[in-house]
Amino acid sequence: MTELPEVEVIRKTLERDLVGKRVKDVTVKTTAVVARHRNRPAFIKALTGRRIESIVRLGTSLVLELDEGAALVVRLGTQGNLVREIATAEAGKTTPVVATFTTGGALHMVDPAKDGELYVVARDEVPNLPELVPGGIDPLTETFTWPAFSQQLRERDAPLKLVLIDDTFVVGLGDLYSDEILWASGLSGQRSSAGLSSQEVRRLYRAVLEVLFEAVKQGGATEATPEFDDDDFDTESSEFIKVYGREGEACGRCRQPIHRGAVEGHDSYFCANCQT
Ligand SMILES: [Zn+2]
Repeated sequence: MTELPEVEVIRKTLERDLVGKRVKDVTVKTTAVVARHRNRPAFIKALTGRRIESIVRLGTSLVLELDEGAALVVRLGTQGNLVREIATAEAGKTTPVVATFTTGGALHMVDPAKDGELYVVARDEVPNLPELVPGGIDPLTETFTWPAFSQQLRERDAPLKLVLIDDTFVVGLGDLYSDEILWASGLSGQRSSAGLSSQEVRRLYRAVLEVLFEAVKQGGATEATPEFDDDDFDTESSEFIKVYGREGEACGRCRQPIHRGAVEGHDSYFCANCQT
């Protein structure tokens, strides 16, 4: 679950730790993760010796801007992470790429689902890479207004759950944050996006911002460990998560049990009593 808040938390952490560091050595265990390059040595050559100048986020992708006009694009996939380690730390089974730095320390790219990707391009090519253009609204960086939000909801005319998990509407909410946003707004995920009152639209709009900013403040919903396992969702470390993964627990608002269901095949946790 590397969703929008998690990627923003990774970006902030890396910005603090990595800017100014120069890449000393690069190890790549699988070809697939650097498949855009001719081969592994081509990727290693492009990254070795480069200094990290800044780290930006485009939707759920990260771009590490490097010296000499280069950029390292990091697409984390569904469960990926970038983890700071000491230089001698051994790479785990799910760590396909390790970079060490001339001043010590290392960066491990963890990719349990094997669907992440890294590549080095010229920095001026980045704006032309279609996969890096967020298709939807990025509420953490853009000023998105509720009238525009309202218009999109009306036009889409689909169950709210499906609208919220659609990256072409709002980027990177996924099953977890869409459920949290619905709970926070008191709306059922089955409701049609076109059938909301203006008051309900405002509630939903506020909930998107509140849930995302709180998630970033809390460091995301998942712990940044290489051993992170999607089946072992750690609710203890995620107290700000109110419904997702909490089937049978008491709703934080009305104390009724939280239900688990599905909206057109998408996992959905909700309180049937206070989400209408
Ligand atoms: Zn409730």
